[in-house]
Amino acid sequence: MDDLLAQIEDLRALVEGARSVVAFTGAGISTESGVPDFRSAGSPWLRHPPMPFDQFMASAAARREAWRRKFAMDDLYRDARPSRGHRALAALVRSGKMPGVITQNIDGLHQAAGVPPDKVVELHGNGTFAACLASGARHELAEIRPHFEATGEPPACGACGGIVKSATVSFGQAMPEAAMRRAQELALSCDLFVALGSSLVVYPAAGLPVLAKRAGATLVIVNREPTELDGFADLVLRAEIGPVMEPFIGEES
Ligand SMILES: [Zn+2]
Repeated sequence: MDDLLAQIEDLRALVEGARSVVAFTGAGISTESGVPDFRSAGSPWLRHPPMPFDQFMASAAARREAWRRKFAMDDLYRDARPSRGHRALAALVRSGKMPGVITQNIDGLHQAAGVPPDKVVELHGNGTFAACLASGARHELAEIRPHFEATGEPPACGACGGIVKSATVSFGQAMPEAAMRRAQELALSCDLFVALGSSLVVYPAAGLPVLAKRAGATLVIVNREPTELDGFADLVLRAEIGPVMEPFIGEES
């Protein structure tokens, strides 16, 4: 425990001394919020697995099933609130020291913690709304769900008739280029890169810490489990994110 306190102090000194800090977050930052981790044993994702993109596109029946699973999962974490990790990162963004948060998560909890949406770079999209695959038009779940539950029909875009899908990046769907580009710019421009709650195995996203470090940034990893990049990092805190990040929340929250 004393070791962890010393490491938290090391992290605090690194943040204080840094000009620009970029955070990269994975599922681990949301477990304290009650959002199930896709990979953990007994995860409800195993009962309601997200549908690969090609299946989703293949038939209306598949889309109906995808939406059923989507709403079943939403019900499990509808009460999720930002964790101490989310709140700490929001405080760092407010302080002007953190130009952006890159996330693999789709839960919208960085925004819920107060990070302006334009400072959250979502590599896997966002599950709190939907979008038309043809026109890109945004669609709200609060409108889709009652219609779906009343008719059993998957939603279509009112403007163009296109297929509407949760605004997440499904397996087999292309990574969002603009988000990847912004994430790379952030990684290259920071002098401290902090990865939180990611096992750092999902490429290409997991290449970002390597990119940052090779460009001269200090790399810190905070994760409960060992990660692929522990040996490459300058500081590794193998711990829960909440207690590690709590000192950064400050008085504003
Ligand atoms: Zn449309």
